[in-house]
Amino acid sequence: MNIEVQCCGIAVLLLIWYFSLRKKPLGLESKKLFLITMGVTSFCLVMDIASVVAISFQEAMPALLLAAVCKTYIVSLVWVGYFGLIYSSTDFNGVRQEWRKKNRIYTIIVLAGTVLIYILPISYYHEEGIVYTYGASCNATYVFALLFVLATVYKVGIKGKNMNLKRRRAILIWMVIWIIAALTQFLNARLLLVGFASVLGVVILFFELENPEANLDKETGAYNAHALGEYAKQLYGKQEAFSALLLALNDNNTGEDGDSAEQTDILLRGLVRHAEKAKDIKVFKTLERELIFFTSSEERLQEVFQEVAAYIESVPSKVQPCYVMLPNSLMLRNVEEVFRLLRHSRAERRKVQKGNCIFLDEEKIEQYKEREKIEALIRSALAEDRIEVFYQPIYSTKRDKFVSAEALARIRGRDGSIVPPGSFIPIAEKNGLISQIGEAVFEKTCAFIKEHHLREHYGIEYIEVNLSVRQCEDPKLAQSYIRIMEKYGLDPSCVNLEITESASIRLRHNLLENMKALIDYGVRFSLDDFGNGESNLNYIVDMPVSVVKFDRDMCQAYFANQKAKFVMEASMHMIHDMELEIVSEGVETKEQKDAIVALGIEYIQGYYFSKPLPKEEFLQFVERAASSDK
Ligand code: C2E
Ligand code: MG
Ligand code: MG
Repeated sequence: MNIEVQCCGIAVLLLIWYFSLRKKPLGLESKKLFLITMGVTSFCLVMDIASVVAISFQEAMPALLLAAVCKTYIVSLVWVGYFGLIYSSTDFNGVRQEWRKKNRIYTIIVLAGTVLIYILPISYYHEEGIVYTYGASCNATYVFALLFVLATVYKVGIKGKNMNLKRRRAILIWMVIWIIAALTQFLNARLLLVGFASVLGVVILFFELENPEANLDKETGAYNAHALGEYAKQLYGKQEAFSALLLALNDNNTGEDGDSAEQTDILLRGLVRHAEKAKDIKVFKTLERELIFFTSSEERLQEVFQEVAAYIESVPSKVQPCYVMLPNSLMLRNVEEVFRLLRHSRAERRKVQKGNCIFLDEEKIEQYKEREKIEALIRSALAEDRIEVFYQPIYSTKRDKFVSAEALARIRGRDGSIVPPGSFIPIAEKNGLISQIGEAVFEKTCAFIKEHHLREHYGIEYIEVNLSVRQCEDPKLAQSYIRIMEKYGLDPSCVNLEITESASIRLRHNLLENMKALIDYGVRFSLDDFGNGESNLNYIVDMPVSVVKFDRDMCQAYFANQKAKFVMEASMHMIHDMELEIVSEGVETKEQKDAIVALGIEYIQGYYFSKPLPKEEFLQFVERAASSDK
C-alpha cells in the first residue's frame, strides 16, 4: 500500500498539534483559523489512508461504503483549500464574521463542490500494491481545489500588497507547493502527494506565523509586544471592549543599576506567573519592559489592580511601581490611539507621585484627544508653511516713537482663521515641536526685517523674538540661528531674543553656551515675563540680558495694589542700577501709559498702542504713527 508518505504526514501533524496546544491560547482569530485548517488537514490525511486501505480491500467492502470513504477523502481536500483561503484572508478581514458576509460565494462554491463530488462517479485502480482513484469525481476535486488555490493566490499575491509580509510569503509558498503536488499527482496518479502537500503548508504556517513561542516574551513568559498589537487590533475589529492596566516599575531603564534591573525581572516573572492563574487576564510585556494586563470589564480591572499592587507590596524590592488604568478601550477609536495614549501617560507619569495610579477617565481622554488635535494642527501648519508671524509695536518713552516690535507666532487655519499661541505653544513645548516653530518664526522675522529694511525705512531698530527654554537646551541652537542671520545678511543687532525664566530648565549649561555664542555674534537678549510669579531677581543677575520685560500681570497689579506698586518700583530701580533697560508689557489705557512714562520705564508694549498685527498692517501702523508725529 502506498501510504508511507501519508503516515509521515500524520507524524508531523501530531508534533505540530502538540507544540500548538502546549501554551494557553491567546485567542487570536488567525490562530483559531490555523487550528481549524490543521484539523481539516489532519482529517484529510486520515481519510487519505482510509481510502487507500479501503481500495486495497475493496472485495471485502460494500461498494457504497468504499465510494463514501474515497469521496470523503477528496471532498476534504477541497475543504482544506477553502479553509486555506479563509486563513489567508484574516489579515485584511480581521474578523471571520466580516469575511463571511463578503465571501458567501466561496461557501456556496465549497458546498456545491461537495455535493457534486459525492454525486459524480469514481473509479479505483488497484494493482501490485499501488492504489488510486480517478474519474469524474476526482476531476471535479481538481477543479474546485484549484479554484480555491487560485483565489488565495489572487487575494494574497495580487490584492494583499499591504498585508503582513511574512504571512504573505508563507501562504504563497504553501500554494506553490500545493500546485506542484497537484500537477505531479494529476500527471502520475500513483503519487499520492496532495494530502502531504497540505501538511507541508501547515508546517510552513506553523513555523513562520503560528508558533506560539513567537508571541511570547522569553524573559517573563508573558505575551510579547507583537502579540499585544495583534490581539488589541482584533478586539477593535470586533468592537469588543477591553480594560487595560499598564504597570511600569521604573522611570526608565537607563537609570537602573544592575541590582534593580534584576529585581525588576524577577518581579515581572513572578507577576506573570501569578496572573496566568486567572483565566480572564491576558498579560503582555511591552518593548519598554512594562506589563499590560487585559481584562474584559472595569470591575475586573480594579480587582486586577488590587491584586497586582498587593503582589508587588508582598515582594521585598526597591522598585517603584506606577500604574495607568484604561477602563474602557471603546472610549478611543482604534489601537493606535490606545497605544499613543498609554505612551503619553507613561511620559506624564513622572509627574505623578510614585506608586500612584493614573486613571484614564473620560475627562482625561478628552484632554488627550484635544492635545492630539492640536499636535496634528501644529504638524500640518509646519508642513504647509502656515505658521504666521504677527508684530506688536513697542514704543520708546524717551524718544516718543515706535522703535521695535515683538514677533508673535500664530497658526493660520486652512479656513483662514487665526489660532493664537496660547493654545499651541504650551503643547509644542511639551512635544518638542517648539524648536521648529521657533526657527520658522525667527527665519520669517529675519526675512521680514531684510525685505522691508525695517531699520532704514521704518525706524524699527530691532525685533524681539521669543525663544523657548526647550530650544535653548539644544547645543546647536546658536549655530543654526547665526546661519539664518547670515542667510539674510542681517546685522545681528536687528534682533533681540526673549528668554523666559524657567524652573524646568535641565541643561542650563547649554543655555548659557548658546547665549554666549549669540551675544559674541552681536545679538542681544531680553528677559521675558519678569514678575509673573516664577521669576526672581537672581535670574537677572545670572543671565547676560540687556532688557527686562515686565509681565502684564505685574503692570496691571501696579495700578491695582499698593504693595505691588512698591515691588515694581523697587525692581525698576535695581534693574536700572544694573544698567539694563525695561519694557512694560500689557499697557491698555492712557492712564497706565502716562504713569509708566512718568515712572521712567524706557519702553511700552500693549493694547493701548496696538494688538499684534499681520506684517502689512504693522508696516501701515508704523508709517501712520511716524507721519502723525510730523
Ligand atoms: P509673551 O512673549 O509674553 O508675549 C506677550 C503677549 O501678551 C502676547 O500674547 C501679546 O498679544 C499679549 N499682550 C501684549 N499687550 C497686551 C495687553 O495690553 N493686554 C493683553 N491682554 N495682552 C497683551 P500672544 O501673542 O497671545 O502670545 C502669548 C505667548 O505665547 C507669548 O507671551 C509667548 O510666551 C508665547 N509665544 C508667542 N509666539 C511665540 C514664539 O514664536 N515662540 C515662543 N517660544 N513663544 C511664543
Ligand atoms: Mg515675549
Ligand atoms: Mg511677555
